[in-house]
This record gives sequence, C-alpha cells and structure tokens, in this order.
Amino acid sequence: MKANEREKIRELYEEQNWICAVEGCNKGAFQRAHILGNTKLNRHLYTDAVIDSKENWRGVCSLECNKKVDIGKGTLRAEIVYQTIISDKSYTDKWNLINDLIIEKNELREAKIDIK
Ligand SMILES: [Zn+2]
Repeated sequence: MKANEREKIRELYEEQNWICAVEGCNKGAFQRAHILGNTKLNRHLYTDAVIDSKENWRGVCSLECNKKVDIGKGTLRAEIVYQTIISDKSYTDKWNLINDLIIEKNELREAKIDIK
C-alpha cells in the first residue's frame, strides 16, 4: 500500500470518528469497504481513479457491514454512485448522496426479508 493511500484511509476513518459507516451499527471502523466493488469489471466500467477515490470508500467494522456498503453490480444505483463521484459536487454533498443510496439499498433488502 502506498503512503498516500494509507493517508487517505486514515483521513476516511477520522472523518467517521472511527465508527462504522453503516447506519445504526456504531461499532469501531477498522476496515475499508468499497461502494463500487473493487473488481476487474468495475475498474473497466468506472476507471481506477473512481474505484480508488476516497468518495468510493467507507470505514466499516466487519465483512457483514462491508457487504451492506457495496452498492451492487450493474445497477442503476451503481451508475448514480459513479455519476456522483465524477460530478463537481462538494465532497460533503457526494458523501451524503451516496449514503442515501446505501441506506435505501439496505432498507429495500430488509423489506424483502420481512415479506418472507
Ligand atoms: Zn458495522
């Protein structure tokens, strides 16, 4: 890992006060989760710069919360995350817009579980 990447990750954790980014979790954040997943296909679709951007990361506590942060593959939500990251919005606006998408995704998933 390059020094500037380490620095970006530390900044990310500090912005979140070292708390997991998943809403309602509140455990310590010690691993980095990609929102647009770190895959070959995503790097092809969305570029290395976007996949490696701080806007595409959240600090999380566990693999379980890591999965909740992943926005999914080839979905409309993934496209919106991409468009948000490359837009000229402020870092805070990007952060909030992407967070809303993550929350919406997880609420829909929980709603599906409730129906069963
Ligand atoms: Zn968590």
